Amino acid sequence: MYLSRLELQGFKTFPKKTVLEFQPGDKNKETLTVIVGPNGSGKSNIADAIRWCLGEQSMKQLRGKKTEDIIFSGSSGKARSGFAEVSLTINNEDKAMKVDYAEVTITRRVYRDGDAEYLLNGKRVRLADIQLLLAEAGVGQRTYSVIGQGMIDHVLTSSPEERK
Ligand code: ATP
Ligand code: MG
Repeated sequence: MYLSRLELQGFKTFPKKTVLEFQPGDKNKETLTVIVGPNGSGKSNIADAIRWCLGEQSMKQLRGKKTEDIIFSGSSGKARSGFAEVSLTINNEDKAMKVDYAEVTITRRVYRDGDAEYLLNGKRVRLADIQLLLAEAGVGQRTYSVIGQGMIDHVLTSSPEERK
């Protein structure tokens, strides 16, 4: 199971549809993808997008206060977006996720009026369905499978009980 693709549209600094493809590793080599850019260019926003798509409910974790904060708010040359959408595609050939698909795409979309939806391979599902699927595959929201900016500090300074 590996992350193979991430699509963002209207999410924070990504007004236009943006697609990131991640290369699979072969048996003996893991691959590492690095995102490089100047301060404030949107690197951490990509990590936020992954976390959000996986069902994150805490706006604080996403470095915002209200839902609208994650929708592109416009710039001098570009109108603000009406919705934010992130799709994350996971290669599931090893069936780590208990669904009958070799490829699983999770989509989360939210509109400015607050309407929100989750899709699994294009079909509407509940957040709970996605949470269950991910938890069974060991990609829970609190498992440090996505480590955002500042979380390393938290790991290093937490008490033994918290770390456990
Ligand atoms: P650093 O190197 O400092 O960690 P970074 O590349 O990680 O920077 P991010 O934190 O991902 O940068 O992006 C911050 C930028 O995202 C800010 O310029 C902020 O204005 C912009 N931003 C955040 N939310 C939105 C939004 N809803 N609409 C438009 N821009 C946004
Ligand atoms: Mg950053």
